[in-house]
Amino acid sequence: MSPTPFTLLFVLFLLLETITHLWLASRQARHVTKHRARVPDEFAEKIGLQSHQRAADYTVERMKLSVTRRVFDAMVLIAFTLLGGLEAINAFLISVIPNDFWRQLLLLGSVLLISGALQLPFSLWKQFKLEQKFGFNRMTLGLFISDTLKGLLVSVVLGLPLAAVTLWLMAASGPLWWLWAWMVWVVFNAFILFVFPTWIAPLFNKFTPLDNPELADRINSLAQRCHFALQGLFVMDGSKRSAHGNAYFTGFGKSRRIVFFDTLLGKLNPEEIEAVLAHELGHFSHKHVQKRMIFSFLLALVFFAVLGFLKNQIWFYQGLGVAPVINGSNDAMALLLFFMAMPVFTFFFAPIFSFFSRKDEFQADHYAHTQASSEALISALVKLYNDNASTLTPDPVHSAFYDSHPPASLRIRRLQELQAHNG
Ligand SMILES: [Zn+2]
Repeated sequence: MSPTPFTLLFVLFLLLETITHLWLASRQARHVTKHRARVPDEFAEKIGLQSHQRAADYTVERMKLSVTRRVFDAMVLIAFTLLGGLEAINAFLISVIPNDFWRQLLLLGSVLLISGALQLPFSLWKQFKLEQKFGFNRMTLGLFISDTLKGLLVSVVLGLPLAAVTLWLMAASGPLWWLWAWMVWVVFNAFILFVFPTWIAPLFNKFTPLDNPELADRINSLAQRCHFALQGLFVMDGSKRSAHGNAYFTGFGKSRRIVFFDTLLGKLNPEEIEAVLAHELGHFSHKHVQKRMIFSFLLALVFFAVLGFLKNQIWFYQGLGVAPVINGSNDAMALLLFFMAMPVFTFFFAPIFSFFSRKDEFQADHYAHTQASSEALISALVKLYNDNASTLTPDPVHSAFYDSHPPASLRIRRLQELQAHNG
C-alpha cells in the first residue's frame, strides 16, 4: 500500500515539530552554557556565581530530558498510528467484547492507560534523578506511587462518564453531535473548576487556614483595595513533594481562595508575598482568567467541528494507519486519532499563545506596581528565580516560542522603568 497524501502530511508535520523542538532545546542549552561563567550585570549584587551556575546546569539537564521525551513521544505516536498499534488493540477488543459500546469505552481506556504507563519512566526520572540531583525532590517512592494511583482513580471516576456520554452523543444525536459534545465538554470543565479546590486538591494535599495574623491582615487589606471578594487564605503542604514554591487563586464564589505553598511562605517576607499576590490579583482585575477560559472554549468548539467533519472521512482513518471497521462503530477510534494527531498540526501555534501570555504577565506586573511595592516584587522575583534555579539568561528564540512568562531581566527592567516614572 502506498502512503496517502494525508499520511505524508502527518509525517511531514511530525518531523517539523520534532526537529523544531530539538533545535530550540539545543539553542537554549547552548545559550545558557555560553553565559554560565558570569552572572548578568543587573543581578550581580543579588545572585552568587554558584547559584547562577546551578541554574544553568539545571536548565541544560531539563533540556536533555525534554529532548529525549519528545523523540520518544514521536515514536510512540508512530507506533500507535502508522505502525498499527491502535488497530491491533481494537482488533483484539473486537474479538473478546461483543458489545460495541463497551468495546469502544475499553478501547479509549486501554489506550489512555498504555500512554500513561509509557510516561511513567520519564516522571520517575524527572522526580528521582533530575529534581533529586538539584535538591528539589521531597517525594518518597511511596508517595509517588500513591499519587499515581489516586490520579488514576480520579481520571477513571471523572473521565469514564465523560467518555461514555460523548460516545453516546456521537452515536445517537445526529450530524450535529459535535455541538452537543462540545456543550458537555464546557459543562464538564466548569464542573472540574468548581470541585477542584474542595474535592480534588485535598486528595493530594493538606490545606490549613493561614495562621499568621500579620500576613493575613496585609492580604485582606490588599484584597479589599483590589475589590476582590476573598473567602479564605490557605497554606498547602507543597513541601511534601517539592522545594519549588508557588501561590495561586482557585475556585468560584464561595469557594474562592488563595493558596500558598508552605515553601513560598518560608522564602519570602510579608511585603514580598503581598507584591506577588498583587500580581496575581492583576490577572484577576484584567480578567485574564475569564478571557482565557472563553477563548479555550471557543477553540474547543472549532476542534469539535473539525472532528465532526473528520469522523466521516475514510482518508482520515486510513491516513493514520487504521482501517475503519465495517460492522461496528468507529467513534472511539476517531476520538483517539484526533486527540493524538491534532497536537502535531497545532504545535506551530504555540508561540502565539506564549506571546499573549507574556503580555498578560506584564499587565499583571504593572497592576502589582500600582497596588503594592514594585521594589518588593522585584526582590521576590529575584528570590524565586534563584530558589527555583530558573535561568536568568534564556535563549531569546526558545523563550519567544515556549515561555508563558517573560524573562526575569525584562520583567525587572520594566518594573524599574515604572518606578523611575513615578520618581
Ligand atoms: Zn502572572
